[in-house]
Amino acid sequence: MQAVMDQLREIVMKNPLSEKVLISLSFSAGRQLLERATRQGLTILNLKTETMRNLAEQVCQKSLLNSGRSIIPDILAIEFTIQVLERLRQAGRLTYFNSLEITPSVGSIITHSIIDLKMTGIDVNDITTEMFVDSCKCEDIKIIWAEYDKELQIRKYIDQADLLQLAAREVNPSHCIYIVPSNLKMHPLERNFLEALTKNNFQVINFSRPKGIITLQTSLENEISPLSIELSEPYSSLLYLNDLTNAPVTELPIQMFHAYGESNEIRQVLRKLKLEKIPFDQTVIFYTVQDPYNHLLFDLAQGIDQLPLTFGQGIDICATNPGRLYFGLLSWAERGFKVSDIVPLIRDGVFKIPGEKSPPKSTITHYLRTTGIGWGKERYLETIDNEIINIKNQIKADVAFEDDNDSYKARFENFLWLKKFFTQLFTSLPDLDSEGRIPYAQLAAWLNTLVDQFSSVVSQADHEAKNVICRNLKLIEDSVAIHLKRDDIFARLKFLIKGIRVSVSSPKPGHLHIDHYNSGLWISRQNVFIVGLDANRFPGTMREDPILLDIEREKIGHGLPLLGNRPKEKVHDLVQFLSSVQGTLTVSYSAFDTLENRAVFPSSILLQMYRLKAHDETLDYSDLIETLGTRKGFTPSDIDESLDDQEWWLSVLSMGNKKPDLDTFKTLYPALLDGLNAESNRQQIEELTPFDGKVNFDPSIVDPTVSKDLVMSCSQLEMLGKCPFAYFLRYVLKIQPIEELVFDQGVWLNAKTKGDLYHGIFERFYKKLANQGEPLNAARHAQFLYEIADELMSQKKVSVPPPSELVYDYERKSILDSCRIFLKSEEIESCDDVPKYFELTFGMHPGGTKNNENFEAVTIELPNDKRFLLRGKIDRVDESANGLKIWDYKTGSTFGYSDKEYFKGGRQLQHGLYALAIERLFSEKELHTNPKVILSGYIFPTRKGEGKRVVRLQVRRDSLYEILNRLFTLLSEGTFVMTDDENDCHYCDYRDACNRHSRSKKGLDKMMIDIFRGLRNYA
Ligand code: SF4
Repeated sequence: MQAVMDQLREIVMKNPLSEKVLISLSFSAGRQLLERATRQGLTILNLKTETMRNLAEQVCQKSLLNSGRSIIPDILAIEFTIQVLERLRQAGRLTYFNSLEITPSVGSIITHSIIDLKMTGIDVNDITTEMFVDSCKCEDIKIIWAEYDKELQIRKYIDQADLLQLAAREVNPSHCIYIVPSNLKMHPLERNFLEALTKNNFQVINFSRPKGIITLQTSLENEISPLSIELSEPYSSLLYLNDLTNAPVTELPIQMFHAYGESNEIRQVLRKLKLEKIPFDQTVIFYTVQDPYNHLLFDLAQGIDQLPLTFGQGIDICATNPGRLYFGLLSWAERGFKVSDIVPLIRDGVFKIPGEKSPPKSTITHYLRTTGIGWGKERYLETIDNEIINIKNQIKADVAFEDDNDSYKARFENFLWLKKFFTQLFTSLPDLDSEGRIPYAQLAAWLNTLVDQFSSVVSQADHEAKNVICRNLKLIEDSVAIHLKRDDIFARLKFLIKGIRVSVSSPKPGHLHIDHYNSGLWISRQNVFIVGLDANRFPGTMREDPILLDIEREKIGHGLPLLGNRPKEKVHDLVQFLSSVQGTLTVSYSAFDTLENRAVFPSSILLQMYRLKAHDETLDYSDLIETLGTRKGFTPSDIDESLDDQEWWLSVLSMGNKKPDLDTFKTLYPALLDGLNAESNRQQIEELTPFDGKVNFDPSIVDPTVSKDLVMSCSQLEMLGKCPFAYFLRYVLKIQPIEELVFDQGVWLNAKTKGDLYHGIFERFYKKLANQGEPLNAARHAQFLYEIADELMSQKKVSVPPPSELVYDYERKSILDSCRIFLKSEEIESCDDVPKYFELTFGMHPGGTKNNENFEAVTIELPNDKRFLLRGKIDRVDESANGLKIWDYKTGSTFGYSDKEYFKGGRQLQHGLYALAIERLFSEKELHTNPKVILSGYIFPTRKGEGKRVVRLQVRRDSLYEILNRLFTLLSEGTFVMTDDENDCHYCDYRDACNRHSRSKKGLDKMMIDIFRGLRNYA
């Protein structure tokens, strides 16, 4: 590198005051080179850096302004190519590419192939059939190229190749001194322009060239003599990496390591920085491939406080808030506006919620999840409107809610806000046209408005991302007037933004810089790390351009780059850069693919470095891997290397006997202290502790025999009987699973909604029969039942739209089948009885009796003079000659209901409780002269249940009272132990919260206190 500096110094010294222009790969690269020269004491006056493109733009600025043309953005060039391809295919003008599926990627590859051809300076008429493997392909490419050019002309655009052609024609050679690095890669048109600009009089800074590797076809290197290699610099001998036989024997202070996965590779670099106290702004990490390294470093920087990074290639736009919002909105729209897709955007703050009076995010997401919107654009406003009407009615009509009026009003205000919000979101969303297609420009405009208004912008990267997204969408909005099919439009919109990088930065003071090794030659920092030197990533495999094969590129000639040379060029570039490093150099690779679960080998270039360092050409991969030793993993080898708490703890816990005394740290980590305390309590086997469900509180809070305000339901008591701990979580701590309406492509109604539908069908059926005074007759009433079922299904279809007609037809058939099964079962089993009461509720509506089927809670008296309030909903009460019969419809299978398990160890109590309630209610209300319940049972009317019935004759009332006494004792004593049977856990909502499986057998055994154990004796 010193030789390069010397050449620059010479040019500057010879022309101290003349205007000088350094043409480089990028502005940043040029600036870095000048900074390095300045640091070495060179005084530079009147020198600026430029890129070839920028110089061409400056030359053409006036001409473009006069002609009203502009340079086409990349994304628009691809859009135009896609449109050209579609037009040509529809007109039957393509032969070779006729059956090619036109995707955004295909559009991009073809656009870049055409631009590659144009950048050689040849004309569309210069390509001939013999240059291609197939003459039809040649013809197609010519047609596409010509149409693409025509499209640019019509729309008043020029591309990069046109720009350089125009610049070469219009340039007035200037007298300033142009300086060009020897390794600057130039297309033929760029070279033409350079020659026209400088009258072929420019100064070249010659870079050292690697031995035994091809020189780059497109650079100036093959036109000038190579520099003689000076071995005075620390890594100059690396120039012999591909010519080891002639390599000088010098010391190579290179350091190497390998790691378990890329994340640990990155972490190891940072650990080294920390341990050796290496300043960030004297360090740069180069990668061989952008992903995953860039992404991992970005994530790590978010997790580790105060890690200032600059990214030479920027960060993925998807990592910014506007990027996440854009792709989130696209998924939301593409997948049918599912609530589950918009909730994370709001919850995670990606969606900026407008207005000071907006409800909290948690309230918005709660409403969205629980109001049953589920999915579908129309359902948002419909459901919100219905909810607003409901709340209005409740506020107006229900005097019993007077105390709660404020909360209802707040809810009302919140729903009004939601209505306004979603109206705003959907206002400019375009409708489908008559052929079911979507207007592309209008959808882009809709997204543009939303990203502009609702992006949460908290950083410079967010700001930049929002601008880029809106700018690209505006281009589509203004220039593309087509309608597309659903799949196509979403693919195009994703492609529009995908891969864009923002927050591109040069190295900054105080910041660790991350960049691609291609920029390495220009960045001068003392400590250099190269990651990603594994066999898969570097130099990578040889790839063909699927449109323009290398064999065709070779025949076309004119400096058209061959993709087959890419791996060799990559080695050339990396070696040239490595040999220029001045300070420390550490190279590494990930030795394990954690996704594929397999070992990964080092790159051949790493082996060459190892051989060069060891001065032994015969060493092989096994020697290298052995020398590298243990792979760097999750645990730092030195506690002082730890980057975060997690690494510190891993480091401490792996210290064995040398482990420090953990007590010292307990005060620093109160949560840890709580955890250790909980664990030791759980290990205690003598007595129940709060960590086993033993809670100390006033019985009136939980015991309904003490508190007059507590109203129990059968399902509550059954849950208590099944697992007191689950009861504690559900009814004491009031933790509830989120009941969300989830879109399933193959399902119309979930179990609960389908259950409600069956109940509605059977209720209406029997009520109508009762009104008509007709006894049931399966043959005569089948059609009647089906009509009711169809009517209610049609109504349900409006409130819960099926995913498709196919799914609806399937579920309709299944429901009608179940109706047939129900009818048959009824005719056989209930022919002598009279169904009298349906969907009879008590205690379900605080505020009292509304009608004859909706009563206040029923007081159940126990033989020991205790009493409690019970609420519930009874599906059906039949009158028979011997007494009343209570039925409950079950829409699943009979699994879990056995004739031998009357109470199922305290888990099935509903039949007995409802019998007590009906007897008490009917006599109190004088609804029946002899309200004696003789049986209470379950009907399984669906295909799964095959119409079976499980009957519980009401002959074990004493046992029921004993069970209830045990349950109320558990409550009054605050004992909420876990179930003794792990089968109870299979369908439990609290599996993750309770972690029963992590308890020891002894720990579970101590929970089996007598009062609970006794329950299980009631089979
Ligand atoms: S998972 Fe099992 S032990 Fe835990 S709460 Fe549920 S039923 Fe009880």
